[in-house]
Amino acid sequence: MKARKYFDPEIETMARERLETLQLRRLKHQLRRCYRGSEFYRQKFEAAGLRPDDIRSLDDVIHLPFVTKDELREEQQAYPPFGRYTVAPPETWAELHPSTGTTGVPVNTIWSHEDVKHISNWTARTMWNFGVRPGDVVQNAFSYGLWIAGMSTHYATKELGCFVIPIGAAMTERQIDYLLNPGSTVLLCTPSYALHIAERLKQRGISPEDIPLRIGCFGGEGGAEVPATREKIEKGLGIEAFDYYGLSEIGPTIGSECPQKAGIHWVEDHLLIEIIHPETKKPCSPGEMGVLVMTHLTKEALPMIRYWTNDLAKLDKRKCNCGRTHARSLGGILGRADDMIIYKGAKFYPVQVEKVVRSFPELSDEFCIELTTDPESSTDVCTIIVECLKGEDIPKITPPLKHGLKEECLVTPELKCVSFGTLERTTFKAKRIIDKRERK
Ligand SMILES: [Zn+2]
Repeated sequence: MKARKYFDPEIETMARERLETLQLRRLKHQLRRCYRGSEFYRQKFEAAGLRPDDIRSLDDVIHLPFVTKDELREEQQAYPPFGRYTVAPPETWAELHPSTGTTGVPVNTIWSHEDVKHISNWTARTMWNFGVRPGDVVQNAFSYGLWIAGMSTHYATKELGCFVIPIGAAMTERQIDYLLNPGSTVLLCTPSYALHIAERLKQRGISPEDIPLRIGCFGGEGGAEVPATREKIEKGLGIEAFDYYGLSEIGPTIGSECPQKAGIHWVEDHLLIEIIHPETKKPCSPGEMGVLVMTHLTKEALPMIRYWTNDLAKLDKRKCNCGRTHARSLGGILGRADDMIIYKGAKFYPVQVEKVVRSFPELSDEFCIELTTDPESSTDVCTIIVECLKGEDIPKITPPLKHGLKEECLVTPELKCVSFGTLERTTFKAKRIIDKRERK
């Protein structure tokens, strides 16, 4: 089994045409279930003048209305605690997973027992995708409990036949201890936590060659596909680093990179993926960046039809060099549609700042983007705050750093260099934008 290239060869290498036939069959079934079983969806479809049978091809999906997070929040407040889109009966429910609440009141999500089976299976597949094999020692530093990634990867280690250390996203010193003994071979956590672990490893005088860690996959926030960040994680931990993605409303670990590092492969037998232009709300052309919109093809308990993730990505449906046919998003998640910073007429995302900051070895991995109001002119001021490892380097790196930011973001933000250790470290998701503007 260990030598097998794919976890599920039939599904993963299925010809595109057959895969799309499977998707359409599952989509039709899902739409009928939602129309029949959910007042929320029935009202939405009726408002759009549609019945499930009107969707005859995958392209027809564009006629269906989007579902947004605000809408789910309002629905759950009006019909607590789960809204009127629980399509499967309560006796089939297995687990409750609310969203993290980083963008407001958490939205409740339910996994049925059948959903847990699917999630465990596709997570085993996405872990196999980046190289986890039976016998691996998996240090699972994704947060456990209500957050989705810790649980799904834990279940998957059972399917894969791995030895799991269910440490969760805490206790950095013990993370280091376990890397030494028993000697984890796989690390799962957020990219910012991986950098923090690498930083501590170095401070404790442990070389990456002294630990058996061989691969890591990093999700919960973007970054693993930013070249400079990937390089720092790989060098700092002595591993191959891959990108992972999931979100609570849709599901955990629904896409990971393969050894080609050619973008996140989606589990397309379970999800229909669209890339939609944020303003026109029309499908983007192949390769164009837009908002990731997802439809559950197999989710039983709380299915999402055209869920507007607000995450920006591109999509490539061409077969990958690894042989898998499931579509990929190159570069992973390229930003959040609502994290876009508009400054002096230019538009840019934190991921672009990250790309520049992490290409300077004189700087630490931490940075933040501070938005303030100039008291005299009442205009916005955008300041990039970075940490310089050695104070004496500040005058030397300021001009090239400013130049790099201007090239990438097409605007020159203010720059502030602080000493190493000033900015807050996180074990979970890093907060990169601090908005202190008087009027928002
Ligand atoms: Zn691939």
